[in-house]
Amino acid sequence: MERIDVKSMSFTELQKEFEGLGFPPYRAGQVFHWLHQGAESFQEMTNLSKSLRLQLAERYEIACAQAVRKLVSVDGTVKYLFRMNDGELVESVLMRYHHGISICISTQVGCKMNCSFCATGRSGFSRNLLPSEMLAQIQSAQRDEGVRVSNVVLMGMGEPLDNYENVLRFLRLVSCPEGMNIGMRHISLSTCGLVDQIYRLAEEKLPLTLSVSLHAPNDAIRNQTMPVNRRWNVEALLKACRHYAKQTGRRISFEYAMIRGVNDSDGCARELVGRLRGMPAHVNLIPVNDVTGTGYQKSRVERQRAFAAILEAAGCTATVRRTLGSDIEASCGQLRRKHEGGDGYEG
Ligand code: SAH
Repeated sequence: MERIDVKSMSFTELQKEFEGLGFPPYRAGQVFHWLHQGAESFQEMTNLSKSLRLQLAERYEIACAQAVRKLVSVDGTVKYLFRMNDGELVESVLMRYHHGISICISTQVGCKMNCSFCATGRSGFSRNLLPSEMLAQIQSAQRDEGVRVSNVVLMGMGEPLDNYENVLRFLRLVSCPEGMNIGMRHISLSTCGLVDQIYRLAEEKLPLTLSVSLHAPNDAIRNQTMPVNRRWNVEALLKACRHYAKQTGRRISFEYAMIRGVNDSDGCARELVGRLRGMPAHVNLIPVNDVTGTGYQKSRVERQRAFAAILEAAGCTATVRRTLGSDIEASCGQLRRKHEGGDGYEG
């Protein structure tokens, strides 16, 4: 951005900036309020004079997420393909639950992690998203659907801990009382297991939920599906998770995509139980989504149940996740690839 990325500034930073420009003290509050309500231009800020609006527009850029495609599922799930100001495309998904509305947002354009089952990595990595662009995804979806989002999950395209500073700034902005005021307890951050960054995040002692994409109980399987495991193996990852749980007092949520014949045997379930023993944890079992070219298939329903039963019997809480939006290709990376003519989509 050539102009200043104003929506990524904290309230205090904006106050200081405006003070330096000689504006009256209430001005920062007005503009911050508009920005975090989702205003997409200074023209919309009708309690500012026309000349001030022009002056601000020359100096500042407002990050927007413009919906270029929208798919609505029979279950009410909405998937967006958003275009950023520079033309880059990312996906977000709005989900309706009985306890409120959740949004899954992207943190990067593309991803460097290359998990073998994931559509996002196949399109490569383009750039990190700015804090303002993460906010814009929520704001656009809210505006479009006329709803208020109560929960945010950082589980869209990208690896949040590979964009650490921007993600942390986003977390502080989205939870700040003068802004959208979505508390950290209503936010989940999902990582493929960047162990050094998990330790760093633990030090922040934020009450958010750490969700870890484990997807395998041992290195033999995880090395095959998740290249990150060759840098930090299962043991190193689980050690970091124990540390995180201890530091924050929060239980860890483990994601486990069930792939037929790869990681879904009774033996895998027992091994998983052994590895998670003594850790405050919850396991989310997700039948893997079909992505063309991977050759993977989701585990059969009986297999999912048997796997979950082994975990439960050993006192390890697990849920087979209800799949929302499966009719609208709602797993990450699929829509963008389709839009760009890639082969990541399979109905
Ligand atoms: N990079 C982060 C967050 C983005 S991916 C992470 O790895 O956690 C969000 C979740 O979707 C991760 O758990 C990821 O492993 C999972 N995922 C990716 N492709 C999938 C697929 N085809 N089926 C099921 N889950 C998938």
